[in-house]
Amino acid sequence: MTAPVVTHARTEFADARGRLGGSVGVVMTMGALHEGHATLIRRAREENDAVVVTIFLNPLQFAAGEDLSRYPRTLQHDLEICEREGADLVFAPSPDVVYPDGEPGVRVSAGPLGGVLEGASRPGHFDGMLTVVNKLLNIVHPTRAYYGQKDAQQLLLIKRMVRDLDMSVEIVGVPTVRESDGLALSSRNAYLSDADREVALCLSKALQAGEAARNSGPAAVRRAARDVLVREPLALVDYLVLVDPVTLEQVPEYFRGEALLAVAAKVGTTRLIDNVPLVVGGREA
Ligand code: AMP
Repeated sequence: MTAPVVTHARTEFADARGRLGGSVGVVMTMGALHEGHATLIRRAREENDAVVVTIFLNPLQFAAGEDLSRYPRTLQHDLEICEREGADLVFAPSPDVVYPDGEPGVRVSAGPLGGVLEGASRPGHFDGMLTVVNKLLNIVHPTRAYYGQKDAQQLLLIKRMVRDLDMSVEIVGVPTVRESDGLALSSRNAYLSDADREVALCLSKALQAGEAARNSGPAAVRRAARDVLVREPLALVDYLVLVDPVTLEQVPEYFRGEALLAVAAKVGTTRLIDNVPLVVGGREA
């Protein structure tokens, strides 16, 4: 496998991007790459002539007091994964390259969908995320962009941005990659002690329990998931919701159809999220 071209400056990236022919798939990451990211790169590799990976820890989507300063930075390892998965080009800029004028005055607003669930706990997070995604799409000019279902609200908001602002890129969602015991892969898992990791398993276990109850309706799904979480007092649950995957509103008891069961909890000092898409009450005929 040939090593990807690694760029840090805009002109350097633009030159290398100009040499890529045909369709281009992009995978945007904050670094600390793991098998979840690798799966996105592989999918992009399968569906495009060329693959670009961006590695950028975006300060705009971290609020004061969040984990920006301690977020794992593992560039050499990240580049090895990019090479192994056949990426052609890596763009790993520093914040002053992405924001040459400092904090941008004009930003993308996530709107009401950006104020619920993750957005309620992390004010401004989705505006910052959409702003950098928009900038990186404008810099990379991809045919397709790949995002993980693990960050379901992020994926939904990126799809909405592309529709609402008439952007010409295809957004592809990729199912969540998990450890064999169910834990969703996340760069933030690196913060977990062995004991924390045991506690963290209650998130995916709760989702599995909810999923198993899907044919019995929304109340049963919520109850089954909640019963798992209450047995783990060391997980401080922020939310556990069964929502419409498009509006993110809680589904009513009579609801039947596609829904999203999503959970966020703090384990030790680490905030974790997970979700599972499911069909409640059996698929309508
Ligand atoms: P991050 O580096 O955490 O910003 O993630 C970069 C991309 O990888 C996002 O589209 C994430 O949704 C995706 N991603 C992160 N973890 C996983 C996972 N466990 N499975 C699938 N995609 C993931």
